[in-house]
Parts: sequence; C-alpha cells; structure tokens
Amino acid sequence: MSSIKIVRIHNELLGTYGDRGNADVLAFRAKFHGITTEVIDVSYLEKLPTNGNIYLLGGAEDAAQVLSLEAIRRDHVLPVAIEGGAVVLAVCAGFQILGNSFHAGGKEVEGLGFLDMKTVPGKERFVGDIKVKATFLDMDITGFENHAGQTILGEDVTPFGKVVSGHGNGDGKFDGAVSGNIFGTYLHGPVLARNPEFADLLLCRATGRKFTTIEDPLASQYAAWRRKVTK
Ligand code: GLN
Repeated sequence: MSSIKIVRIHNELLGTYGDRGNADVLAFRAKFHGITTEVIDVSYLEKLPTNGNIYLLGGAEDAAQVLSLEAIRRDHVLPVAIEGGAVVLAVCAGFQILGNSFHAGGKEVEGLGFLDMKTVPGKERFVGDIKVKATFLDMDITGFENHAGQTILGEDVTPFGKVVSGHGNGDGKFDGAVSGNIFGTYLHGPVLARNPEFADLLLCRATGRKFTTIEDPLASQYAAWRRKVTK
C-alpha cells in the first residue's frame, strides 16, 4: 500500500493536550517512505469514515471524553475498522475510552471495551515526564503524562510499556495497553514527535510494508536526548 488515510478523531473534544500533532509526524515520515497520506479531521457531529488506515484519539478533559465516546459508539465504525486491521493510536483520555470503563463527573462510564482494562480515580494526579520500555519495540519511549485516572489492566493484557520513570497506568509499573494494531498509552508529547521510530512502526503496520527507519538526524538526536534526560 502506498497511500494511507489518517483519521484524526474529534479534535474539538480530544484536542486538549496537542496529540493531534501525531498525525503531522505520521504524514511527514510517510513522505520519506514514499507513502502518500491524507489526514481526515472528523468532528463529533460527523460520522467517522470506515476506510481509515490509522485512527488517532487524543487526550481530553472528562466531559469532552464522554461526549467523544458517545459519538464513537453512535457511529459503529471503529469496531469494524479495527476488525479490518486498522491501526489505532489512543492517548490518555482516548486510551481510557477504549477500555471497559472509566470515571467522569463522579460516575462510572462504560467504555468501548476494545481493551480489557478499567480506569478508576487515582489517589493523586499523575503529572510529569515519563519514560517506558516499549513491549513491541526494542527501545525506550518518552512522553509527558497528565491524568487523574488510574488504569487497571486485565490479566492477559499486554502493556504498552514497562515504566522506567513516571507513573504510567498509575501503579508505576506499566503504561498503556497494546492489542493487535491498537496502541493505548498515557504519553503525550506528542508521543510520535518525541519518538519518531514509533511513527515508523505504525506506518509499517498500516501499510503492511517493511522499511528501515529513515534518516532524519535532527529528529533522531532530539529523541535520543529526550531518552537521556528523562530519568
Ligand atoms: N480526563 C482523563 C484523566 O484525567 C484523561 C486526561 C488526559 O487525557 N490527559 O484521567
């Protein structure tokens, strides 16, 4: 596949933490790999397209997160796309939405259930730099976390990463969850700007092509520096 569609879901709701930049990094890296991209922004008033290759969900405040969840559920599109092998990158609120439940406005809210996990109110707010050892790539991934929820993974769920420093899901051990082509994490940054190698992996998954990482010395230097300074 040499052309992909990147669907950026509900920027007006899931745009609080700047995770929309993940699409820009994917588009930029894709160009080097000879892949053309179309970034499609879909508001919660519109139906999600069924033909996306990569779906992106970002972080949000609790109320916005619930509105986005309701719109995604209304559309019945994401489950079909996931079934068809689409890649999903979901950050923080977007990640919580994919689980069995989370809390918002003092109530438990039922999630989409794509990942076997639940999110409960944490004892503190988890804010700061974070570094995790990825479970699906042989490298550390860095980011910035800012969330009140604490996520408890089901027994058989593979985490996104093992926490090196920071809080991650709230237990200080693991961050996020991965299942097939679904990647959920607490890492903002945007995470793909801070870890361009991860963007390349998502592009490989979305296109079914194998390619080695591209030469972008500044991005590589920046990512390496971040890994060094994030203790
Ligand atoms: N509202 C959620 C929480 O505080 C998610 C926050 C976020 O996306 N950064 O846990």
